Amino acid sequence: MSAVADVRNRPRIDERIHSVIAGARVAARAGATELPVINPATEQTMSVLQEADAAEVDAAVGAARDAFDRGPWPRLPLDDRKDILYGIRNLLRDRSDELAHLECLNAGLPIARVREQLARAARNFEFFAEVASTVTGQTYTGNRSHLTYVTREPKGVGALIAPWNAPLALASMRVASCIAFGNTCVLKPSEYTPLSMLRMAELFHEAGLPPGVVNLVNGRGAVTGTALVAHAGIDMVAFTGGTRTGKAIMAAAGAQLKPCILELGGKSANIIHESAVFERALDGALASVYSNNGQQCLAGSRILVHRPIAERFIAAFIERARRIRIGDPMQPETEMGPLCFREHLERVLSYVEIAVGEGGELLTGGRRAPGFSKGYYMEPTAVLARSNKARVCREEIFGPFATFLVYDAVDEAIEIANDSPYGLVAYVWAGDLDVTMRCSRDIRAGTVWVNTPMVRELRAPFGGFKQSGIGRDGATSSVEFFTELKTTTIPVDAPVLPGIGRDGNRRP
Ligand code: NAD
Repeated sequence: MSAVADVRNRPRIDERIHSVIAGARVAARAGATELPVINPATEQTMSVLQEADAAEVDAAVGAARDAFDRGPWPRLPLDDRKDILYGIRNLLRDRSDELAHLECLNAGLPIARVREQLARAARNFEFFAEVASTVTGQTYTGNRSHLTYVTREPKGVGALIAPWNAPLALASMRVASCIAFGNTCVLKPSEYTPLSMLRMAELFHEAGLPPGVVNLVNGRGAVTGTALVAHAGIDMVAFTGGTRTGKAIMAAAGAQLKPCILELGGKSANIIHESAVFERALDGALASVYSNNGQQCLAGSRILVHRPIAERFIAAFIERARRIRIGDPMQPETEMGPLCFREHLERVLSYVEIAVGEGGELLTGGRRAPGFSKGYYMEPTAVLARSNKARVCREEIFGPFATFLVYDAVDEAIEIANDSPYGLVAYVWAGDLDVTMRCSRDIRAGTVWVNTPMVRELRAPFGGFKQSGIGRDGATSSVEFFTELKTTTIPVDAPVLPGIGRDGNRRP
């Protein structure tokens, strides 16, 4: 049986999507707001999401609080906690067909891409189990009469908020990094892509995770998300999503001094230098802007090409972009599926008019993909902008939309790369060592990829400069965000105490 047939024959789609609180699905509630869950490839409603209101969010936070304050999870011996995290990894691998099917139907991502993301989702639990093993404390012995030691302990209950562009990969990252250290959480996925998340939450419990450690609430940001962030029972907020939402979340969390980690948007530069290996730079540029249906925070969406090779490079790019295989995301040969939802497609398409209105040149694409009577399919699009001041150079479009600029000198390319409100990542394609070293040193972005498209090194910090975020994912950074430091001091020699109120304790 082929991989496609295998996936197609699998799981049922839940008729209704409910929250999962303390390990159980919440029952249907009369009068609850219901939202359709739509397949972006067919525009059909696949399921109905029951939106969690403030009372349901309160119940979810209560369950997480109880699991943290009184439950076994933060108190389990580390090895037992790790066994459960490894169990989750194994179960995510065992059920990867089912999860891939749900993710592909709901997010419209090509199945080959989803399989990579599922492998990563499983790996996240293994990785953070290992990171949890590295957590150590410190001792201070400089004052001989006292021993002072510093321990790390879990921080509490996390509000974890995830986007729709890579639901399983990104939500699993948030959950694994939160619970590995003994925290508990409430996860809110995007209202557009709840299908795989519900299944994943159930698998956590099947793998032996105690009830209440991961609770799931579904609903829109303005209703469920705001209630969650504002809840007094939440100790920290970990958010992946858009910059504007990140600012609102940080303001709400800041009102109660809740720490935040924010992984936000980008408008990343991809610098192509004349010394680059031409074909590799071309492959890399296409991959970094059009994979994941163009919906990725780390897209190299501003392509800065060195003038001596610009004409040839742009022509080759256009030719390849026109050959991208658009289609049913369930087919293994599909390179680009539909955008995730109608309003998003309309927003991405609106940038074509914006680009042209600003004097840019439409190089290819710019329309809904022909040949589809249904589905939010869009042609891979590229424009040549007049300058970096253009909106298509400054705003995150988050679709299959490349913007080209031509530069003359490396300093100019670096200046353009840095002239952005964002600073998530940057790509450099060059054979000249001096060029790569200068770009690595001078570009203000959280990650610089040289002669490679995105490669995620989980151990290293990942996050953005400027409006691309606050804080980092990664080994050390996650330990710092998801744990608290505690200092304990114990005397070795009985200390002399002031004896306040004791007879004869009078100062002269
Ligand atoms: P979004 O900001 O619209 O929504 C993200 C999540 O936040 C959703 O679950 C949404 O329901 C919720 N939300 C919205 N308003 C809220 C509020 N006021 N309070 C609480 N929750 C709220 O983002 P999106 O459209 O789902 O995702 C795309 C964005 O995510 C892009 O900007 C992309 O660059 C970014 N992103 C960043 C990274 C990263 O690692 N830096 C990774 C993936 C996506």
